[in-house]
Amino acid sequence: MAHRHNDPDHDHGHQHGHDHGALSPVEARVRALESILVQKGYVEPAALDALVERYETRVGPHLGAQVVARAWVDPAYRARLLADATPAIAELGIGGRGGEHMVVVENTPDAHNLVVCTLCSCYPWPVLGLPPVWYKAPPYRARAVIDPRGVLAEFGVRLPETTRITVWDSTAELRYMVLPMRPAGTEAFDERRLAGLVTRDAMIGTGLPGVPA
Ligand code: FE
Repeated sequence: MAHRHNDPDHDHGHQHGHDHGALSPVEARVRALESILVQKGYVEPAALDALVERYETRVGPHLGAQVVARAWVDPAYRARLLADATPAIAELGIGGRGGEHMVVVENTPDAHNLVVCTLCSCYPWPVLGLPPVWYKAPPYRARAVIDPRGVLAEFGVRLPETTRITVWDSTAELRYMVLPMRPAGTEAFDERRLAGLVTRDAMIGTGLPGVPA
């Protein structure tokens, strides 16, 4: 297959990474966009830096995992979360852009949930951080809807034939997170230890929580 030099997701790091500041195509595009926004006075450079820092270091799936673990140990919290997720998530001090209208869907022995954005890459940033590359890629976006069971198998998730799979299409206005099932054998676990079992993929629906060692 021909090498595609114009693919923005392609990793050119080994070619340009130490090349006296040369930028990869996607870095160059981001830099250009940032320059225009700053020049036109739409954004403060310091505010942009703070935003990037926030998503690189402080916002991530560990926050969604706290929500899941709380729901596992506190039935009243779980009920609030499923009834109206945004304020329930805010109870834990979690929220912000991309999480204004959250819906949490619950896995059960009979029902599995899978989240996708068929249109682009809408993702619940405040609870999961930045989306993985595959979430934004056309194959996942198309196939999650057409063949969810096949997609799950590729992620190593094999569900009983009797388990119904529901695919939820996130949008800019409404973003979904999966509440996975609490793994067996975790009855003695505290909330913190439970949160450690909750992976990003388990909250997208392409994975299941870790099994206790
Ligand atoms: Fe989207």
